[in-house]
Amino acid sequence: MKATAAVLREIDQPLSIEEIDVAELQDDEVLIDIKGAGICHTDMTGIDGTVPLPLPTVLGHEGSGIVSAVGSAVTNVVPGDHVVLSFGHCGECDVCTGGRPAYCELFAPLNYFGTRLDGTTTLHKGDEEIHGNFFQQSSWASRAVAKATNTVKVPEDAPIELLGPLGCGIQTGAGTVLKVLRPKAGQGIGIFGLGGVGLAALMAAKAAGCDPIVGIDTNAERLEFAKELGATHVFNPKESKDLVWDIQQVTPTGLDFSFDTVGTEGVVRQTLEVLRSPGHAATVGFQGLENNISIDQGHLMLGRTLSGVIEGDADPQQFIPEMIELHRAGKFPFDRLIQTFPFAEINEAIKSSADGRVIKPVVVFD
Ligand SMILES: [Zn+2]
Ligand SMILES: [Zn+2]
Repeated sequence: MKATAAVLREIDQPLSIEEIDVAELQDDEVLIDIKGAGICHTDMTGIDGTVPLPLPTVLGHEGSGIVSAVGSAVTNVVPGDHVVLSFGHCGECDVCTGGRPAYCELFAPLNYFGTRLDGTTTLHKGDEEIHGNFFQQSSWASRAVAKATNTVKVPEDAPIELLGPLGCGIQTGAGTVLKVLRPKAGQGIGIFGLGGVGLAALMAAKAAGCDPIVGIDTNAERLEFAKELGATHVFNPKESKDLVWDIQQVTPTGLDFSFDTVGTEGVVRQTLEVLRSPGHAATVGFQGLENNISIDQGHLMLGRTLSGVIEGDADPQQFIPEMIELHRAGKFPFDRLIQTFPFAEINEAIKSSADGRVIKPVVVFD
């Protein structure tokens, strides 16, 4: 079976569009005709080598499309189903069966090693092995091989080519708010960094009835957009002499929750400093395999919690349909974050995300 794929052959080089071969499905695998695939920060960390990956490889981990074939052991989807692909998880370890698949014992080998657990690749080009299985999908391609576990059936009336980011970036923002922080209506939240993940968190906070909702970013356009999406207050750190003090003026008790998409020491410290006592901060911004930061223990002693979160700590089989329901009810307009590009323009799409012109690029296939 042939597919057109965007192949990363060298670190920090443009992807090359190539015709490649897709292997026969194993029993628990699903073949998907990809309709759309988002571009997410984690793809960038593969392209620039922050996370070392075996090359050549096909990235892409926010795929959506239509099932075209299933292995003999697959029971959750059938050919013709509309699906969103999420992160790989085994579905069998005690963490997965406990409902927290983002912390699966096999998360690294399933998502980053570029092969199946048996060492074979799902992709090749003649005799040359191409590493697939990136987040159990490698969906920057016209066809992708996923597992039954990370293939999520979605309603057919939803816009299939736009749904891929629900599998990672948007799930990370919305899941962290709705599944980890769990605000009640009327509680306050501060969101540091208003990219796709931060704005998804903001929309989820709005849907949950948070007030105030404070957005922080150095991009003035993003701050305006955040107000349209429900931010009650916005701050630009470049224009603030003392950002923490400014945020503290929003509500005299401090914010109940804060959310960091940046991952630098300065911002993680600020997420703790703006909290009330108690209060809960979540950090999701990934800065590479080593990122030592120091925080003031005094900030934690006041009953505060700092959580590191992957993939919104959500179970995609349950949470992706939930987000589509919220979208249908008009409470979660994630499509406003998206700009589509033809698949052939994927390098331009990646650039548009890296330089901040586009919040969430999605490459689409005819
Ligand atoms: Zn597991
Ligand atoms: Zn991602």
